[in-house]
Amino acid sequence: MTPGLDNLLGQSPAGLRAWVEAQGEKPFRATQLLKWIHQQRCTDFSAMSNLAKPFREMLSARATLESLPILRDLQSADGTRKWLLDAGNGNAIETVFIPEDDRGTLCVSSQAGCTVACTFCSTGHQGFARNLNAAEIIGQLHMADRLLPHPVSNVVMMGMGEPLLNLDAVLPALALMLDDNAYGLSRRKVTVSTSGIVPQMDRLAAECPVALAVSLHAPTDAMRDVLVPINRKYPLRELMAACRAYLEVAPRDFITFEYVLLDGVNDQAEHAYQLLDLMEASGVKAKFNLIPFNPFPQSEYRKPRPEAIRRFGQILIDGGFVTTTRKTRGDDIDAACGQLAGEIQDRTQITQRRIPIVQHD
Ligand code: SAH
Ligand code: SF4
Repeated sequence: MTPGLDNLLGQSPAGLRAWVEAQGEKPFRATQLLKWIHQQRCTDFSAMSNLAKPFREMLSARATLESLPILRDLQSADGTRKWLLDAGNGNAIETVFIPEDDRGTLCVSSQAGCTVACTFCSTGHQGFARNLNAAEIIGQLHMADRLLPHPVSNVVMMGMGEPLLNLDAVLPALALMLDDNAYGLSRRKVTVSTSGIVPQMDRLAAECPVALAVSLHAPTDAMRDVLVPINRKYPLRELMAACRAYLEVAPRDFITFEYVLLDGVNDQAEHAYQLLDLMEASGVKAKFNLIPFNPFPQSEYRKPRPEAIRRFGQILIDGGFVTTTRKTRGDDIDAACGQLAGEIQDRTQITQRRIPIVQHD
């Protein structure tokens, strides 16, 4: 970041209006500027040709448009593309584009590392470095739209980090994704994925209800306490209540539950039946997205055999739930879920901060 200059890339539409007005300019200029930055993806104020010259000069003197530098740009044989971005101090974050026909989904990161420390997740294994700011979050979409041949049609906050533990930065980025003068995506095409930070689910519902995915991974508290340690603070009963409340304002009439299948741990038929019981008891309208475990170097789990994956999915389907099993994409560039580890060159920079866990009974 250039010191002394205001970085306007991460300003929400309302934030940009306030900034423009604080410089003594008319509010309509904020809309023009928003379009230049996010629709034209222009990062040079002097090239914003329909803005009055004095306004452009003021912008060049006081503001900047900056995001994380690209360290590597990797392309998979199946069309998946992965960018490694420099988050400073030897930390890197990743952004992944998954193409589908003439459109595609961008998987965006919200933090360098993650404090939640799920036992099966590579990001969780590396500890926590820092939150990304709004410019660094929206900058991933800005970059992808600039570099890809097709526009991004869907965004999922499923990269590195727990988006609901960085809502102050995620909310302005979401506002830009949805704004017609910026990226103009519908609420249904922007998905936040969470490990279940209950109070922040309520805040997202109140401030910016987009599609919600909840990383469930276990049908009981005993099992989820181990796999997703935040469950000890926000157990299943509270999580399901937050899902019910979210559905009252959600753009879709279901919650997507993600479920990583770990061989011999949570992939047995009995676990699928327990999951049906949990859903029945909670009354949450749900779809399931099964994710066969993606191994990473230090992982202690294995991917289930295809028969086990099919059997688990079939029980959920027979129980009346739309259930998809995620294909692994971008294998040759390690671009799959949970493999996003960045490349941390200097581990001494990582503070091993963990969320305080309150034991429930
Ligand atoms: N922190 C958020 C979003 C990022 S993780 C969350 O947990 O929801 C995106 C998804 O990838 C989550 O469902 C996560 O549980 C899953 N995931 C993490 N590690 C994985 C692995 N090794 N194999 C398969 N999926 C994994
Ligand atoms: Fe964090 Fe999500 Fe990984 Fe859990 S699965 S450690 S919440 S990124």
